Amino acid sequence: DPMLRLSDIKKSYNAGQATEITVLDGANLTVDRGEIVALVAPSGAGKSTLLHIAGLLDTADSGAVEIAGQPLQRASDAERTRMRRRSVGFVYQFHHLLPEFTARENIVLPQLANGVPNVQAAARADNLLDKVALAKRAGHRPAEMSGGEQQRVAFCRALANNPGLLLADEPTGNLDPGTSDTVFAALMGLVRETGLSAVIATHNLELAARMDRQVRLDAGKIVALDE
Ligand code: ADP
Ligand code: ADP
Repeated sequence: DPMLRLSDIKKSYNAGQATEITVLDGANLTVDRGEIVALVAPSGAGKSTLLHIAGLLDTADSGAVEIAGQPLQRASDAERTRMRRRSVGFVYQFHHLLPEFTARENIVLPQLANGVPNVQAAARADNLLDKVALAKRAGHRPAEMSGGEQQRVAFCRALANNPGLLLADEPTGNLDPGTSDTVFAALMGLVRETGLSAVIATHNLELAARMDRQVRLDAGKIVALDE
């Protein structure tokens, strides 16, 4: 099975109102294990909507969502939440780290929620921080770190529970170009090393070109970038 399969996904907002908008109109996307797909589209095209549906944070109006071969579009809320917590990691444009906790604690907390013992969770956090060259920042709070460092901690948190699938929505969109490059390299390093599958939405064509495959959203459908 592929890691992610989206089939004929349709999604509208404000159905039946004058403001009705069809964002996804039969979108199909398959992501193989270990594959990194760039999702390129202008703002408003529906990237966030697609990622939220793929990550089980939102439901489509119709179509099928499969993660690791499991059909989830019509699964119970409890089952979707369990699958999301176990198998999906999210990264956003803004880090969303908890300000009152240290970098290590921000990576430990999602593991505790999944029943991982504290000592093991802390060891994993430190190991992840080391991979993004932040071992020395483990005890620092977000406000004591630069934007690029905060975002690298957010990547570690997304990988805390060893998900099979990473979904990233403009993960370096908030950073200046120089920092964006370093931080993106850190993300790609983490993803490649852990053999994760990933869908990474970006406006940055240079970053997109470094992924395995590029797709874009066009009139609610996924098309290969060169089509
Ligand atoms: P992108 O991530 O590509 O910028 P989004 O998926 O956020 O696109 O949004 C796609 C379109 O759907 C936009 O026109 C946006 O205004 C609209 N939209 C997104 N979420 C909602 C919502 N909850 N209610 C109504 N319209 C929405
Ligand atoms: P929770 O325990 O709040 O359900 P999870 O740890 O299961 O959160 O969520 C996984 C990731 O998805 C986290 O990074 C969280 O910030 C994000 N997330 C959870 N719910 C939403 C939502 N409704 N919209 C956007 N992101 C969300």
